[in-house]
Amino acid sequence: MAKNALITGITGQDGAYLAKFLLTKGYSVTGLVARRATDTLWRLRELGIVNEVRLADGDILDLSSILRAIETAKPDEYYNLAAQSFVVSSWNQPLLTAQATGFSVGVALEALRLANPKIRFYQASTSEMFGKVQAECQDESTPFYPRSPYGVAKLFGHWITINYRESYNLHASSGILFNHESPLRAIEFVTRKVTDAVARIKLGKQKELRLGNIDAKRDWGFAGDYVEPMWLMLQQSAPDNYVIATGRSTTVRDMCRIAFSHVGLNYEDCVVVDPKFFRPAEVDVLLGNPAKAKARLGWQARTSIEQLMAMMVDADMRRVSKEA
Ligand code: NDP
Ligand code: GDP
Repeated sequence: MAKNALITGITGQDGAYLAKFLLTKGYSVTGLVARRATDTLWRLRELGIVNEVRLADGDILDLSSILRAIETAKPDEYYNLAAQSFVVSSWNQPLLTAQATGFSVGVALEALRLANPKIRFYQASTSEMFGKVQAECQDESTPFYPRSPYGVAKLFGHWITINYRESYNLHASSGILFNHESPLRAIEFVTRKVTDAVARIKLGKQKELRLGNIDAKRDWGFAGDYVEPMWLMLQQSAPDNYVIATGRSTTVRDMCRIAFSHVGLNYEDCVVVDPKFFRPAEVDVLLGNPAKAKARLGWQARTSIEQLMAMMVDADMRRVSKEA
């Protein structure tokens, strides 16, 4: 029998890729969509699935919305991807972030406990919880040290997921995903800011790119690769925590070099460091160890940073070329 999935955050980068992935597995997919004044369905359109998913109106902070969405979707699996996900905004809106990124996870779990504790649950946790890293290479046992209100809020989400697993025997898993990007990434994140600028500079529509800390290092993977392990976690007999990463870390500087050189530009001619983009507290370096995911889920990342940047630059070249 076909399974049903409910995805919060279906209009985001990961939600769109996950919806497409689950549709190819034969799932009936419902997405929770918050009412906004502007169109938020562009990613679902871009993947050609906007008419193949069911949309349920609701907000993750509103328990009654979630209960109604569960009643409509009758999910076997609940993927909790919705959040205020941009680290910089979390300093500007720390309390909203605490609610939308942390507290809301409790709302979802409480809804499951009340409505149907048999529904399997995935929580979108993050490498930002490692923050000021306590080990050179981070895995499931590395202690956390978040460095932003976003990281702190996600830590609540992670632990409340574990707590509901242990208190109520819910099949609730936490995926500690390292940064993952794609042509569907929101423009404020550094990779997409770079690939959009590469296209604009190449096509003569922009002169320079202003960035903050280009010495920061991230373990960047492709979002299209990272949705499969979310699903795999919920297919295991027991819930658990898993690090999902490539195992390779690159500086923002090298990521720029790779992206600019893809269209024959030298990043040093275009990138200007602007202290305006420095953060109140920085996560200097992240490097994940995905060994557990490989051993238990049989998963590993398939896309290198070079392939990822090429894919994103090509997509932005097409987009910018089409602009009037
Ligand atoms: P996005 O920012 O692209 O998507 C966030 C989603 O959350 C959007 O669909 C947004 O809806 C929705 N949302 C936000 N607030 C609410 C609300 N109050 N009610 C309902 N929906 C809401 O994030 P990603 O797809 O990149 O990430 C998915 C999840 O994974 C997030 O939780 C993120 O924190 C986490 N994560 C992401 C990583 C990454 O590198 N991408 C790394 C590790 C974790 P709308 O479109 O209406 O704004
Ligand atoms: P994050 O890891 O979730 O914060 O993802 P981001 O893509 O927002 O940032 C990744 C790293 O790039 C961080 O260490 C930032 O400080 C660094 N960075 C440098 N310049 C910029 C910039 O202009 N915008 C963003 N978003 N990040 C930048």
